[in-house]
Amino acid sequence: MLELHCHTTFSDGTLTPTELVAEAVQRGVRVLAITDHDTCGGWQEAIAAADTYRPDYDLTIVPGIELSTMHLGRSLHILGFYPDPKTLDGPLLERAAGRWRRAQKMVEILESLGYPIEMPKLPSGAVPGRPHIAQALVNGGHVESVNDAFRSLLGDGKAAYVPYEPFSAEEGIQMLRQCGAVPVWAHAFLFKGDKVGNVLKALVPAGLMGLEVHHPGHSVSDQRQLQEWCDQYDLLATGGSDYHGPGNKHRAGDRTGLNRFELPIELLLPIQKAAAQLKKQPEFASP
Ligand code: AMP
Ligand code: ZN
Ligand code: FE
Ligand code: FE
Repeated sequence: MLELHCHTTFSDGTLTPTELVAEAVQRGVRVLAITDHDTCGGWQEAIAAADTYRPDYDLTIVPGIELSTMHLGRSLHILGFYPDPKTLDGPLLERAAGRWRRAQKMVEILESLGYPIEMPKLPSGAVPGRPHIAQALVNGGHVESVNDAFRSLLGDGKAAYVPYEPFSAEEGIQMLRQCGAVPVWAHAFLFKGDKVGNVLKALVPAGLMGLEVHHPGHSVSDQRQLQEWCDQYDLLATGGSDYHGPGNKHRAGDRTGLNRFELPIELLLPIQKAAAQLKKQPEFASP
């Protein structure tokens, strides 16, 4: 079974790549994409962890990423599958640095509002997100729960909310393609800036190659609509549980755990093909 969207402690997941792999094995996952926010720091550990289960259990790790971009003033996430790490490293450093600057700004705003916090320790190569800040607010005794932190301070438009640094969805798509990665719009129906159909009219010409059809935040009719758009625009269909580890009741994917959709491995083949095709293009070869 195929699981193409999950997070580790290298971004805002709560399981290390090794722990995530153990859970994937237990859940019967055969292909697992590591898609941390704006970092590929978790791949190596996940690949090494998967190796320890061979030959008894074969788990293939798909290198992936979830890029944070802005579209119409709202955050829009783009998954990228099979980026070339050498090409990706440079542009990604800037994205990760932007997340650190943003986290620092939120810490400063919280301090000025009377909520001093200490950021949790992150593994080297990891990037911070709002869930880390929310957890720090809980640890500091300022709020009851992560959910409370979002509701009162960190949610979109709240007092300590800071948007991502400017980086458009179109730029994100282009960056992924230049790194040989297949760009897929993540959880499209959670986007708050415009109707999905309108956004597609901008992102398809920009080079979008797929839609995350199966996501815990999508209703059955959302999924049907997304599949129709895949057929109409000739886009790849992907899916995953957007798992961040156990224990966060706010996120549907975390409640149900890995392998929620039991997707067939066959979905991976066209993604692999598209990634190989991208790497044959002349701009991929250029420095
Ligand atoms: P960021 O990319 O840093 O803006 O953080 C976004 C992350 O925060 C996503 O993974 C969301 O699932 C998570 N998130 C959003 N709202 C909440 C909430 N109310 N409680 C817990 N996590 C949330
Ligand atoms: Zn996340
Ligand atoms: Fe996301
Ligand atoms: Fe995600």
